[in-house]
Amino acid sequence: MEQKSVFNLVGKEEFEYIMEVFGRCTDDYLFLLDLDKDDYSISVRALEKFDLPGSYFSNAGKVLEQIIYPEDFLTLTEDLEELKCGSKTEHDLEYRWVDREGKIVWISCRGVVIQDTVDDSRILVGRITEIGSKRKADNVTGLFAERQLQIDYEKVRKDGKKKRGTLLRIGVDNFKEVNERYGMEMGDSVLKMIAHCIEQVSEENRCYKVNGDEFLVLLPEENAQEARKKYHQVRILIEEHRKEQGYQNFYTISSGVVGFSYENLDFGQVCNYSEFALSMAKRNGKNCSYVFEEEDYKNYMKSLDIQEKLRYAVNHGFQGFEVYYQPIISAKTEQVIGAEALLRFFCDEYGMISPGIFIPVLEESGLIIPVGEWVYQTAMSQSMEWQRLIPNFRININLSFIQICKSDVVSGIMTSIRELGINPGTVLFEFTESGMISYDDSVQRLLDVLNENQVKIALDDFGTGYSSLAYLKNLRVNLLKLDRSFTSKAVADEFDYTLIGHIVDMAHSIGMGVCFEGIETEEELVKLRELRPDYIQGFYYGRPVGKEVFYEQNLKKYESS
Ligand code: C2E
Ligand code: MG
Ligand code: MG
Repeated sequence: MEQKSVFNLVGKEEFEYIMEVFGRCTDDYLFLLDLDKDDYSISVRALEKFDLPGSYFSNAGKVLEQIIYPEDFLTLTEDLEELKCGSKTEHDLEYRWVDREGKIVWISCRGVVIQDTVDDSRILVGRITEIGSKRKADNVTGLFAERQLQIDYEKVRKDGKKKRGTLLRIGVDNFKEVNERYGMEMGDSVLKMIAHCIEQVSEENRCYKVNGDEFLVLLPEENAQEARKKYHQVRILIEEHRKEQGYQNFYTISSGVVGFSYENLDFGQVCNYSEFALSMAKRNGKNCSYVFEEEDYKNYMKSLDIQEKLRYAVNHGFQGFEVYYQPIISAKTEQVIGAEALLRFFCDEYGMISPGIFIPVLEESGLIIPVGEWVYQTAMSQSMEWQRLIPNFRININLSFIQICKSDVVSGIMTSIRELGINPGTVLFEFTESGMISYDDSVQRLLDVLNENQVKIALDDFGTGYSSLAYLKNLRVNLLKLDRSFTSKAVADEFDYTLIGHIVDMAHSIGMGVCFEGIETEEELVKLRELRPDYIQGFYYGRPVGKEVFYEQNLKKYESS
């Protein structure tokens, strides 16, 4: 049967006009591809997202090659060849385009070939749907999806009547665990229930579901308190439902709140801020809400930037990192017995960055593993050099729990000790107490191996966080380091002073040494020395400094001239 062309019914120009009008009525892109002449036309809206020369262009193959994901181009040309040679008349393919920002966009492209009887060319007529982002509703909860939120947001923005708004984002804490523990079906019913509760409190405002386990409500005014109130109401409703259902499951929710001006922020930015706000709530311990603060966001962006700089440094011979050394003094003789190695990082943009800032970034990114290895190798070989002047000069090195739990740090340490030939009894590793909370097999193994090999161990920052005497028994540490926040108070506070005195006695009675950290003044020194610590470390005796300065200040005098 001869295929009847629309061009028999309307002229080609009219047809293109009709396509343009329909193109404005749908989120899809409509297109025409002249298979013989290689001309192409597509809905104008496609130009907003994809880097095309216009809504009409020739040399379709060459032009489209620029925006089609390279690995998919061959599949498409093969399919088009079949249409060209007439072995089939329908096109239905899912493949990838690349948008103006370089992001990959999955599309579904469907069309049929029609014959233009006027100039005898064959035209593929069809539509392109963005598969990923175009879903407007969520099947589990029945709520609208992100795409609809974007449309609604842009509408209010264009309309210009409302100046400000608040975006409330609610997310389930550890939703993966809910699915794993109770099954997918329960996971779905949890989402449905949360959706229901959110709808109840959001009154006439629409709710949207995004990213699998997150919900958004766009509130008409800028009012963070109101948004937080709604979050708390949702929590109360969830608790009521849970009670009714007989406590079949347990989970918590967090929320991020962003107040904004429509004029200043486009949809992408508001969404970014709102994702950041929810992630801050989760970082702050979950089951809570966080209101967006520009300052926090800037700091977060700065930490991402620092992370890039740290990564670059790691991949370029650790350039920018330097190990500083702070003297550790014998309380009895007032002589230097060793040093603590303290890491520093320098970069052109920020100058010297404090470890308080970059150590957490190294830990979060896992970079602490290679950097930590570099620190213990550098510090140990430096220490061996100084042992020439002070036999058994002791080097204290900080270890992060990420190194212990996520890498085989103990093998690395023992190999370095062997290869350098350093006396293991002159090496000491410091751990912080907060890490001991998550104390597991890898911690135990590390401590066992270090103990067996006479490597010393210290519990750092004792007195901050959760001091538990039980750890001391289990961990068999050689040295207790009392934090400055503890020692400095003891000068003025009789109770703390007595307490520290008892801690020193207790440590000594179980064969543990004690080091007071953060001694800054003579007054502190005189008073605290009476409590008979073994070692003292603090600005009073010397700040952390580079190796040359450390040598000048502490070791040069031992050089036999
Ligand atoms: P920390 O191990 O407790 O190190 C002692 C900190 O107290 C150092 O801060 C030191 O400069 C500071 N300090 C020493 N004496 C005084 C004093 O008299 N007064 C005051 N106010 N402070 C004093 P720093 O160098 O900024 O290091 C901070 C923390 O960063 C360290 O605390 C340690 O937990 C961590 N850190 C430093 N280097 C490394 C490293 O190589 N690896 C790991 N994992 N952590 C490190
Ligand atoms: Mg330390
Ligand atoms: Mg400390």
